[in-house]
Amino acid sequence: MQQKISRRTLIKGGLLAGACVPALGLLANEAAAAGLTPLSPSDPTASALGFAVDSSKVDDKTHPTHTAAQKCGTCAQFLGKPGQPRGGCNIFAGHSVPVGGWCSAWAQKP
Ligand code: SF4
Repeated sequence: MQQKISRRTLIKGGLLAGACVPALGLLANEAAAAGLTPLSPSDPTASALGFAVDSSKVDDKTHPTHTAAQKCGTCAQFLGKPGQPRGGCNIFAGHSVPVGGWCSAWAQKP
């Protein structure tokens, strides 16, 4: 026995599926970020580069090139997506860094 599907049902289903695609993409990004280990300032490489989880707490005497505008979220090495609190970093493979973090490898995002 065949069941008729109305045009309205098809359109509603299509709209619902279309609305789910971006949400699934966001979940995939969050899942990828969740697979990364948060970078610790005590990590030897992080320590060597003066990594801090909060850029506003970086000692400008120790790191004279640091400015308040320099944060992981504005760094060319940051791999996170807009709106995410954390993301990967090209310098620290396998780790995530917070958007408000900083290290001396910071470079302006183009
Ligand atoms: S390289 Fe950039 S994104 Fe990575 S920790 Fe340093 S400032 Fe943050």
